[in-house]
Amino acid sequence: MEFFGHIIDGVEVESLDGGRFDVYNPWTREVWAQAAEGGAQDARRAVASARTAFDSGPWPRMGRTERARWIHKLADRMEEKVDELAGYDSTNMAKPLEQAKHDVARSVWNFRFFADHQRDHCGEVFPMDSGHHCYSEFGPAGVVAAISPWNFPLMMASWKIAPAIAWGNTCIIKPSEDTPASVTHLGRLAAEVGFPPGVLNVLNGHGAPAGSSLTADWDVDRVTFTGSSTTGKAVMASAATHLAPVSLELGGKGANIVFDDADLDNAVYWAVEAIFRNAGQICLAGSRLFVQDGIYDEFMKRFVAKAEELQIGDPLAPGTKFSALSSRKHFDKVTGYVAQIEELGGHIYTGGVATDGSWVVRPTVADGLALDAAPYCEEIFGPVCIVNRFTDEAEAVRMANDTRYGLNAMLFTENLSRAHRVSSQLRAGTVWVNCFFIRDLRTPFGGVGDSGVGREGGNFSREFFTEPKAVVMQITR
Ligand code: NDP
Repeated sequence: MEFFGHIIDGVEVESLDGGRFDVYNPWTREVWAQAAEGGAQDARRAVASARTAFDSGPWPRMGRTERARWIHKLADRMEEKVDELAGYDSTNMAKPLEQAKHDVARSVWNFRFFADHQRDHCGEVFPMDSGHHCYSEFGPAGVVAAISPWNFPLMMASWKIAPAIAWGNTCIIKPSEDTPASVTHLGRLAAEVGFPPGVLNVLNGHGAPAGSSLTADWDVDRVTFTGSSTTGKAVMASAATHLAPVSLELGGKGANIVFDDADLDNAVYWAVEAIFRNAGQICLAGSRLFVQDGIYDEFMKRFVAKAEELQIGDPLAPGTKFSALSSRKHFDKVTGYVAQIEELGGHIYTGGVATDGSWVVRPTVADGLALDAAPYCEEIFGPVCIVNRFTDEAEAVRMANDTRYGLNAMLFTENLSRAHRVSSQLRAGTVWVNCFFIRDLRTPFGGVGDSGVGREGGNFSREFFTEPKAVVMQITR
């Protein structure tokens, strides 16, 4: 059976007390590996390693080009190991292999992008009338604690690790207890390519005590977290005890608006991707779909047909597009919401919970729910799309914005003015027009309201992972 230890000081180790926990394959529902159960003392060890590497190691002191070279070396190694890394995510959370490979490619790109971004960035110069010269400098912040979720185990971790280490920080990543494999393997690869010890530590274990010990540690200078809004609040409160700035990427209840002038084939394609990719376990999922009256019946016919075409099966089998949910706990959560749909007067067009004992919830499309019904308002984080009709632009915007969340929204229209008009009225961190899930890493990424605090991406990551400094010099005349 495989074992995933902690990576501390560049070495894979057991927990100090030897504790381990079982890791499940959600497709087979069997234990396939074990991971080290990190306790408070293991968290302390990992932070101490990162602290020493930051305070006296070469990483924050080396030139930007040299640091970029190291990170590209890691990215090269990840590309050589794509099958291994993707296979881990597939086995560990039932992500179809093709999607897992796509995630590895995006993770590699995260490393390459931030390596180059820090290497090529410039500070700013502020000409002053007073006979002074002023410029800004972006030095590393220190030790970064990163806590990542199970839905994109490698990709979400790389989104945090890459900018953190690129800007000269040292890091401890705690992957979700459900998905320790790919991130631990990333830590092994960093050690293999020769990263200085302590630059990238991996701490395995549960949210508490492993994650909570990291966020509460006074040697941690930044906390970056992706997960549920409830845990996000606990993380923020914990980091506040030592005033560590936090970046939180939390839940979502994405609105997807399809106007009657949309290219229907394109809108249906993306509506399916937006809610059924990764079995809907995406904070950006288009889980609230709004379709204009005039095209409602035609759209629903095509949408339901495409949902039913998705090949469900073993995530490692060729052609599988859709598989089990990531854990028993999560399957129970999603099943609970599906059960409520008809109880609350909704109509299910297709989908529902598989009855073969697997942890599969089939692609589910429903409408007819009241706007305060739990499956419509709350983040299900599964393959469940709740559809509503609207008559005009104002109603669509009102319904889309009527949520505590504000991570993202999508809209489909061939009318350019409408696209601009509606985009600017939507209360969301990202708006996709006629597409979904496309990212440019230079742009801000994050959410409004319960969807998070702060933005990452490009210069936004620079602001978070550095201590910007102003240097003011007098010029003697
Ligand atoms: P959590 O928010 O509980 O977990 C996310 C990460 O935080 C995990 O690594 C978890 O560790 C860790 N964690 C938990 N408690 C603490 C703590 N007190 N201090 C520090 N770290 C902590 O999400 P779940 O995995 O339980 O999923 C629950 C729901 O959250 C989902 O159903 C979904 O609605 C939402 N979610 C949203 C995500 C997003 O992308 N925005 C991603 C994942 C979930 P551990 O796994 O060991 O508990």
